[in-house]
Amino acid sequence: MKALVYDGQLKLVADYPEPKAGPDEVVVKVSLAGICRTDLEITHGYMNYRGVMGHEFVGTVLGGAGRASDKWKGRRVVAEINCVCEKCEMCLAGLKAHCLRRTTIGIAGHDGCFAERIAVPMANLHAVPDGVADSQAVFTEPLAAAFQVIQQLPANPKERVVVIGDGRLGQLVAQVFASRGVRPLVIGQNEAKLRRLERMGISCLAATEARPRHDAHVVVEASGSAEGLKMAMEFVRPRGTIVLKSTIAAPGGLNLSPLVVDEVTVLGSRCGPFGEALAALGQGTINLDGLVTAEFGLAEGVQAMAAAERAEALKVLIRC
Ligand SMILES: [Zn+2]
Ligand SMILES: [Zn+2]
Repeated sequence: MKALVYDGQLKLVADYPEPKAGPDEVVVKVSLAGICRTDLEITHGYMNYRGVMGHEFVGTVLGGAGRASDKWKGRRVVAEINCVCEKCEMCLAGLKAHCLRRTTIGIAGHDGCFAERIAVPMANLHAVPDGVADSQAVFTEPLAAAFQVIQQLPANPKERVVVIGDGRLGQLVAQVFASRGVRPLVIGQNEAKLRRLERMGISCLAATEARPRHDAHVVVEASGSAEGLKMAMEFVRPRGTIVLKSTIAAPGGLNLSPLVVDEVTVLGSRCGPFGEALAALGQGTINLDGLVTAEFGLAEGVQAMAAAERAEALKVLIRC
């Protein structure tokens, strides 16, 4: 089958081996997949990953090895990305996303979805409601990651919330807060991206005009840069919380002492609730208009990744 593979270099492979479903897995025919920051980071060496790229997708179940897979056959699904052991300390504590023996689809030890077909554990599947189109369902994983912020830190309309970053994730995080009655301020660098948010009634500020304020109860760092974290420290109020959504690999030289002086809570935040994301997509509470800036066929996967790297890009999709 065709697959977009990273083996130290990004390449389209025409005859990648077909995925085989393990006893608790099914093979899914991928319809539509999305490129996220993590995929781009992988091609820059993040996680030292080798294999088929991609973790955001919607597709149709072809079948599995065991009887249990029959009920999934032919169903349209999305899948959570952590493949877990169900037995370790974290799994038994109900914290499966933190499984000590996990693999992660397209990120660590498990082939991803930028391919014609992918094998995924049945435990990871969520059926997509009929009212949710593929073009919406493909946002389930990143939207779930956005919902994770308010799962960890319940939205409070009385609090000042700042979102740093106007990219793919920042857009969704801001909308999730807005859907809960919070009026977030988004700080970003791209005029068109900020304007998209303003059209939805979300307040924005150009990063060049941002001055330290130290008055936000919550600052969500979704810019993916060390400068974003620095700015978060300038906006969070004493005893406030900084939520880190992006994996900043090199905070080199960043002075973290304001976190100590102001007794700031720093909260890491990663994968989130698929159920809530699918429900929001079904209800249309999250506006996806203008979020997709390009769509490519799988054969143009390398070009698709290049398009996603461009500063003006939001979500780039791959039709598999
Ligand atoms: Zn992602
Ligand atoms: Zn486990």
